[in-house]
Amino acid sequence: MEQELNRLQQEAEEDLGQINEIAQLEAFRVKYLGRKGGALTSIMRQLGTVDPHDRPRLGQLANDVKQEVESWFEEKKEQLTATQIRHTDSTTDFSLPGRYLPYGKLHPVTQVMEEICSIFEGLGFAVAEGPDVETDYYNFEALNIPKHHPARDMHDTFYVTDSILLRTHTSPMQARIMEQQDPPLRYIAPGKVYRCDSDITHTPMFHQVEGFLVDRDVSFADLKGVLTSFTHKMFERELALRFRPSFFPFTEPSAEVDIACVICNGSGCRVCKRTGWLEILGSGLIDPEVLKMVGYDPDIYSGFAFGLGVERIAMLKYGIDDIRLYYENDLRFLSQF
Ligand SMILES: [Zn+2]
Repeated sequence: MEQELNRLQQEAEEDLGQINEIAQLEAFRVKYLGRKGGALTSIMRQLGTVDPHDRPRLGQLANDVKQEVESWFEEKKEQLTATQIRHTDSTTDFSLPGRYLPYGKLHPVTQVMEEICSIFEGLGFAVAEGPDVETDYYNFEALNIPKHHPARDMHDTFYVTDSILLRTHTSPMQARIMEQQDPPLRYIAPGKVYRCDSDITHTPMFHQVEGFLVDRDVSFADLKGVLTSFTHKMFERELALRFRPSFFPFTEPSAEVDIACVICNGSGCRVCKRTGWLEILGSGLIDPEVLKMVGYDPDIYSGFAFGLGVERIAMLKYGIDDIRLYYENDLRFLSQF
């Protein structure tokens, strides 16, 4: 009987090793462990016929073998169940709705920036990008703002060193491009700019698009034409434009440009402070001094330049009343665009 038990144990181990499907397990269980006719069950029934002297030892052995085979069986069952879930997914309910993966979107400022660029590209302007960390020369001096000029007060500048700073506008690209190329030129320069200022309408970093055009016989009428076409496309309707005399050191004459309020259409509301007008950008004809600095003859060439705040345009287009919302990274706000 001892030999028979050992043989059964070995046979069971080999049988189990051949099994690789749950369906085959039941036959194994019946063959060895089944209550009726299972090999181990039958052999244990024969214990009553053996020599009483050997009975306790053989009984113990038979029990050990049975427990061993049962534990192999359970282990195999667990292993095959796990494999089956992995491979055939028979326990997965395919009718369940899928998990929602939200789409990523471009930030509203990026969207508006791209829209502005594409409108100007449609008008024949090329796009140029320059460094955020700029020299004092390109940010100020080349734009007719020498050291100690009172106009520097308009820019709350972040200085890195005495001569290096974070650009306060994207206008330095005007000087950089004019230095390297001859007219005719039509460029826009989009990018981040930095000023030490923070409240409901100002953030220390914001986005600007600078544009300029230099050619023979460029007049204020050309500037008006380009900006009128831009605002009509940007706000998707024919809004009235108003040019107000202003001052910028690098343009002469200079003008701030207002559009009829996009909220009340000019009748007066809280957003336009009851005036019916909204300021959207600064502009002017390029100062002859700036042209001279890059070696152009102002008697031959003239040009215009403008700079607009991207956040400002986006606020007006979407009716946003606090510029800081752009930078709080609140998905409830950002996912609306
Ligand atoms: Zn209004």
